[in-house]
Amino acid sequence: MPSKKNMNPEIVVVGSVAVDTIKTPWEKRANILGGSASYACAAASFFAPVGMVGVVGTDFPRRYRKLYESFGIDLAGLQSLPGKTFRWTGVYEKNMDVRRTICTELNVFASFHPDLPPTYRRAPYLFLANIAPDLQLHVLSQIEKPRFVIADTMDLWINTAREPLKELIRHVDLLTLNESEAHHLTGKAGLVKAAVRLLGMGPRYVLIKKGEHGSALFSDDGVFLLPAFPLLDVKDPTGAGDTFAGGLIGWMAERNRTDEITLRNAMLYGSVVASFGVEDFSLDRLAKLTRKEIETRAAEFRRMLALRA
Ligand code: AMP
Repeated sequence: MPSKKNMNPEIVVVGSVAVDTIKTPWEKRANILGGSASYACAAASFFAPVGMVGVVGTDFPRRYRKLYESFGIDLAGLQSLPGKTFRWTGVYEKNMDVRRTICTELNVFASFHPDLPPTYRRAPYLFLANIAPDLQLHVLSQIEKPRFVIADTMDLWINTAREPLKELIRHVDLLTLNESEAHHLTGKAGLVKAAVRLLGMGPRYVLIKKGEHGSALFSDDGVFLLPAFPLLDVKDPTGAGDTFAGGLIGWMAERNRTDEITLRNAMLYGSVVASFGVEDFSLDRLAKLTRKEIETRAAEFRRMLALRA
């Protein structure tokens, strides 16, 4: 377990903190820790000090806070408000590719106003995980000198907050979204067409996630394709994209480099951490994960990708 206590965060993550109920074809888990910020912070914590920005209600279990602390996550930016924590229920179909949202209860999220503690404002790396784009913009505006900013989004915001989302996209270095969201946001059917359109909206990089088929990084200089690490058994894919992005920005922060080769390697590490994350529900597998296991799987992954001996 990483320990990054008593250091100002180098990475700030804003996103949802959730109590999830998840049903897969094999198992149901109720009231487990979820949310984009939980997955991303846990993943990033293996590489560099990370601070969480989020909100919980008074019902948020103490053991979940303790779990965050065991990852060394800085919680100075985690607000606690009267009321219930954000809750989400999702159900996976047989092949786990299709997921249905059964219920979303915003609860304390509805009155969330993310004000950053002073210790976060100098962080060079920022991950704006999936929340309302105006909240993402508000967090970005409080970071003094961001060196690399990643933003994620979802269909909900493409439908309901398109203008603030476009404003946000103009200000980030890397926009990450899944394939269907890329098509939805641009109206373009082909992956490359959608990516080119997205690059035209402002970011230096566009990273399109394709679930178990990996991810594609687009920039003005070209394309980099990375498969997902092949796993025999996926127990719960919830949060895989957030774990991927958290591992990716963690790896960049550890190196303090933002060039494209670093970014490509960061994608590999993000994939590796995400591949562990989906081996169990919630943060259960990440809580047991070691840096040594990450390095061993990263080396195995590199061997799979090698075109030369
Ligand atoms: P992902 O699998 O990347 O879509 O992330 C799943 C996590 O996102 C779950 O743990 C949910 O609690 C959280 N989530 C679901 N809906 C929303 C939403 N509308 N806003 C923010 N987070 C959400």
